[in-house]
Amino acid sequence: MRINKFDYMEKYGFEELIYFYDKETGLKAITCIHDTTLGPALGGTRIWDYSSEEEAVLDALRLAEGMTYKNAAAGLNFGGGKTVIIGKANEIKSESFFRAYGRYIESLNGRYITTEDVNMTTKDMEYINMETNHVVGLSHKSGNPSPITALGAFHGIRAGLQYKFNNEDISKYTFAIQGVGQTGRTLLDYLVKSKAKKIYYTDINPKNIERIKENYKDAIFVKSEEIYSLDVDVFVPCALGAILNDETIPTIKAKVIAGTANNVLKDKNRHGKMLMDRDILYAPDFVVNGGGVINIAPTGRDYNNEQVIHNVEKIYDRLLDIFKIAKEKNIPTQDAAIMFAEERINKISNIHKNYIGKK
Ligand code: NAD
Repeated sequence: MRINKFDYMEKYGFEELIYFYDKETGLKAITCIHDTTLGPALGGTRIWDYSSEEEAVLDALRLAEGMTYKNAAAGLNFGGGKTVIIGKANEIKSESFFRAYGRYIESLNGRYITTEDVNMTTKDMEYINMETNHVVGLSHKSGNPSPITALGAFHGIRAGLQYKFNNEDISKYTFAIQGVGQTGRTLLDYLVKSKAKKIYYTDINPKNIERIKENYKDAIFVKSEEIYSLDVDVFVPCALGAILNDETIPTIKAKVIAGTANNVLKDKNRHGKMLMDRDILYAPDFVVNGGGVINIAPTGRDYNNEQVIHNVEKIYDRLLDIFKIAKEKNIPTQDAAIMFAEERINKISNIHKNYIGKK
């Protein structure tokens, strides 16, 4: 698909689209900065073997815009950005490749801060960090975000239950977890410790299934295609994107959906509306899984786990606000979440109108 880039940028309010090529290492990177009203653009670097340059640009644009809303809804003072690197991850990586990339990030002078995303490792990030300080999520600082992402989703589930049933006592409810990888298994642990009435789970990785079977004897394993239609109160997606779609939504019996997975609505408008019409309360993914970005966001101080845990708890109140907006305006919760994020961006941009002099 060919897109007219300036038209696209104008339509969706993008600030900058940057191409970077390094002839020594063959590095081809595209950084998109969507909106920096709240602060420097924060978003990960992804390596992907795109079939065309257009596909890579579109991905960078789409992901950067998503980060603007995610960061704003997480209460952070960061805008949205993303980098895509074109190529096969197992063929292109080297120290010089990532250091060339680090120098390019440095040349952006702090307008964009990067972190790990698909096909990037902690080792790659350390090479980038040799050339620039505009990197977060390093192992010796905030480390693996998954446990904090799971904690945020746990608060998201509580908020969903409170709003839907006016009672957030986990012990009264049944759950179906899709995916017990890094985030799903920690979330399962939170639910077990809160004495959940019954927990079903599925996965396709035998090692991850075995791990749950060994450690959580009461959790019930089901085949992956059975997970949607279980007669449970909460469906907890912690695996793939696009799983809420024309085929799955009509079969769902749960009344609340909240989990860690990204981009779970196959079509944001159509499937957000379908869930609303079926009276299923959907906790928007980019708000529920905001714990990860809250964990890595730079604060200007040393990493403080207690502060992060406190900030992640706020996901509960934010979701209640979003559910309220959705009800008042009679719109899907996904749209209400974007409205909530945009409102924060607009309000904060207004406070910058006051002249306070130079330091
Ligand atoms: P992970 O790879 O550790 O776990 C995903 C699990 O899902 C794996 O065990 C995998 O086998 C399983 N799975 C894959 N396909 C499946 C299927 N068809 N049916 C059932 N299970 C299946 O990943 P993770 O870090 O736990 O992330 C899960 C989701 O959360 C992803 O969408 C990710 O983008 C999102 N997310 C993660 C974080 C984080 O901090 N890790 C932050 C924000 C969002």
